[in-house]
Amino acid sequence: MGDCLFCSIAGGKTDTEILHETEDLVVFRDINPHAPVHLLIVPKKHIRSINDLRPEDLEIVSKLIYTAKEMAGRMKINESGYRLFFNVEKGGGQVIFHLHLHMIGGW
Ligand code: AMP
Ligand code: ZN
Repeated sequence: MGDCLFCSIAGGKTDTEILHETEDLVVFRDINPHAPVHLLIVPKKHIRSINDLRPEDLEIVSKLIYTAKEMAGRMKINESGYRLFFNVEKGGGQVIFHLHLHMIGGW
């Protein structure tokens, strides 16, 4: 996936600040935030979209959500509240075709 931006970021090949990293995911700030806090939670594995999920991806999807909960606490937006969402395909607003979970909050 040589030309995939999020593979490059997840692989540490850009100067994007990584807020959190595990063996299978990374978290970084959205470059064009839609809220005071706007994070992207991204698997290192290249999965094109929610439409391409396979049964073996279930564990990473649950890790994305669990990481969102952990990051919400760290960013101190857990009590005020936040939204989690996936944009799916062009009609759903997906622009980067590497799976990512948006977390927005901090209003
Ligand atoms: P989506 O529309 O769900 O595909 O979301 C893609 C998101 O990636 C958008 O909110 C963009 O602002 C964000 N984005 C694009 N390029 C970068 C980048 N280099 N670093 C961080 N976020 C980015
Ligand atoms: Zn990718």
